[in-house]
Amino acid sequence: MLTTLTRRLLDLVYPRRCASCDALLPTERDLLCAPCAGSLVPAAGASCPRCAAVYLDLAGGGRHVCGGCLAKPPPFASAAAAFAYGAALQDAIARWKGRPDESLSAALCALGVVALAQAGARSSWPDEAIVVPVPAHRKRVRRRGFNPAGQLARAVTRWSGLRLVSRGLRATHAAATSRGQQRGAREQRVQGAFRARERLVHGRVVVLVDDVMTTGATVRAATRALLAAGAREVHVAVLARAPL
Ligand SMILES: [Zn+2]
Ligand SMILES: [Zn+2]
Repeated sequence: MLTTLTRRLLDLVYPRRCASCDALLPTERDLLCAPCAGSLVPAAGASCPRCAAVYLDLAGGGRHVCGGCLAKPPPFASAAAAFAYGAALQDAIARWKGRPDESLSAALCALGVVALAQAGARSSWPDEAIVVPVPAHRKRVRRRGFNPAGQLARAVTRWSGLRLVSRGLRATHAAATSRGQQRGAREQRVQGAFRARERLVHGRVVVLVDDVMTTGATVRAATRALLAAGAREVHVAVLARAPL
């Protein structure tokens, strides 16, 4: 009772705002205002089944392997994304990663899981598969207070019914999770940045979860670490994927 009252008082003082443009929201449950929510591009239907690259020009249809994957197939067996990375979602994710906010985290993870379900991601994952998040280096976790990929992995686990193995991978140096570099530089920096725990992943099919996939260098490095530790197969699931 008191907590509900406190919550309402807090809402009067600090009403919830759109996680992208700061517009006041009509209810405390919303994440984005209507125009920002309308700018989201679900990956369902129009994306590469190998790397989840979203085809923005094929809205509503188009599921063929992209040129990049044909030329050089990625080490993972499949990839699924909830949304194209950009616009309002990019702002919301930046806020989510900026500081711990339970309601923002829950709303984003729920939104992601619904869109992953619509994209048919679960049908690529066998029932005995385990869910492993891309880890953040402990220094980064200490600074940020949480690992966004870990929270998304928990949501994916609850939805899919698969088992969460949150310590299947570890980040061996801080560069493993630094973002926003040029493709070549990132590929080099993340090479060897992850180690998989063999006793947890050997012989398993792994659903590897990350929040954002841009060049794909991070999930490729994490996949190679899992395969080197004897994982049978790796499928990638992300909240947001850079469009082609
Ligand atoms: Zn907005
Ligand atoms: Zn592709």
